[in-house]
Amino acid sequence: MVIPKEVKTIISQLKQKGYEAYIVGGCVRDFLLASQNEAAFAQGYGGPRDWDVTTNAKPEEIQRVFPDSFYENNFLTVTVRIESKKIPEIEVTTYRLEAKYSDKRHPDDVRYAKTLEEDLSRRDFTVNAIAMNDKKKIIDLFGGQDDLKKKIIKTVGNPDERFGEDALRMLRAVRFAATLDFTIEEKTAEAIKKNSVWLEAVSKERIRDELVKIIMADRAAEGIELLRQLHLLKYILPELEENYGVGQNKHHIYDCYHHALKALEYTAKKKFNVHVRIAALLHDIGKPKVKVGNGINSTFYNHEVVGAKMAFQILRRLAFSSKDVEKITKLVKWHMFYYNVDEVTESSVRRLVRNVGPENMAELLQVREADRIGSGVPKAEPYKLRHLKYIIDKVSKDPISVGMLKVDGKDVMEILGIDPGPRVGQILDVLLGHVLDDPKKNTREFLSTEIKKLGALEDKKLKMMAEGAKEDKFEVQAEEDKKIKDKYWVK
Ligand code: ATP
Ligand code: MG
Repeated sequence: MVIPKEVKTIISQLKQKGYEAYIVGGCVRDFLLASQNEAAFAQGYGGPRDWDVTTNAKPEEIQRVFPDSFYENNFLTVTVRIESKKIPEIEVTTYRLEAKYSDKRHPDDVRYAKTLEEDLSRRDFTVNAIAMNDKKKIIDLFGGQDDLKKKIIKTVGNPDERFGEDALRMLRAVRFAATLDFTIEEKTAEAIKKNSVWLEAVSKERIRDELVKIIMADRAAEGIELLRQLHLLKYILPELEENYGVGQNKHHIYDCYHHALKALEYTAKKKFNVHVRIAALLHDIGKPKVKVGNGINSTFYNHEVVGAKMAFQILRRLAFSSKDVEKITKLVKWHMFYYNVDEVTESSVRRLVRNVGPENMAELLQVREADRIGSGVPKAEPYKLRHLKYIIDKVSKDPISVGMLKVDGKDVMEILGIDPGPRVGQILDVLLGHVLDDPKKNTREFLSTEIKKLGALEDKKLKMMAEGAKEDKFEVQAEEDKKIKDKYWVK
């Protein structure tokens, strides 16, 4: 394991001017994890990431050492720019001490700390409070290395106090447990359970960012379940918590809540994107509201419409961007689309593509896949699915028609000085034949010349040529169709 030379340079430049400087936080944690075990390294902990430096130099002093840096009054963090493609920017932060938090939300006042020790003691968890100098010497005042070995998340100091200062830390504990595959130490976990209501004081944006990190973890489903066990879920996604224990019908073996988790788990396993993952988690969120009856024959009519409305409200509440909200809501709303080979018409698939948006179709199919696998009793579907993909591809392509030509009927009539009649359509059909043979011929120049030639032909001859061209068109269309079919292995 090596410290990037860019980071070393920054530290040594600060040291040359007489300041102290260390790498600190998540990068030290991940560095130690990666050197500790190859499995962690393989999981990417040793991969590219932000390198944070902490120092006793004040922001103005940091800026004096690095003229190419900027300070935007960002809690004493100066961003230093360097000539490097790999690491173009490094954040250098002055030792800090967070003074009293009176509203569990943000520090009343961010103050300089004099020593590294003070700076480390304000950090959230022991594994995040380890510092390392440029010679890889470790300063570990709170047993962080030990906890890395034991794979536990434990607050620096008294957990009640630390969560009281900033309630977001409770959510961060779950995030690190999910991303690192750690467990939360008992006293820390008890404090979260006891104080979970404090999460209500935290801004939606900060909650959203941590939630997204949990959802993007390989162990996303475990992360959500941990949120529930620690009584945090009801302050973030109470609607999901309400799905707990809501039984389903014969198509499922899991209750609504566990089905949502299974679906999420599948999207994480497949490394699907954030929209698909959230949609998978929320796709059945409306079920408890519309459930009729009990046991194997219960029904959930319209749950996708009710669910889409709920998803919309949830995501708005969590301050997701309107683009994200719109996309995920669509995925939830259309996840029940019906499809059976030979039973569903092309035009209904075309309508689905229009409603969902062609750009969202691939993701909709992924949500559907997650739903199916997450039911616990997945029906075999590969051929049907391939066939649907084929139809979607087909209806998403423009059909072959004279509409593709760079000239139209009006041009034909103008050039030849004729009135509307069968000859106009026939000429266009012949032109389309030329263009299908050679797409380069689709220019106004070439086609105008051709129109003049065709205009001189007698009726019978032109009609024959038009019929021939039409047959060619059907052949080309059939060939195109065959290509799409082959692509999806359908007959
Ligand atoms: P990531 O891999 O996501 O970047 P990270 O550990 O670097 O993980 P950040 O949110 O980038 O997490 O924070 C950097 C460091 O700042 C943390 O390791 C921790 O020492 C400290 N820190 C961040 N947020 C808090 C907080 N809310 N309370 C206390 N310390 C915090
Ligand atoms: Mg970080």
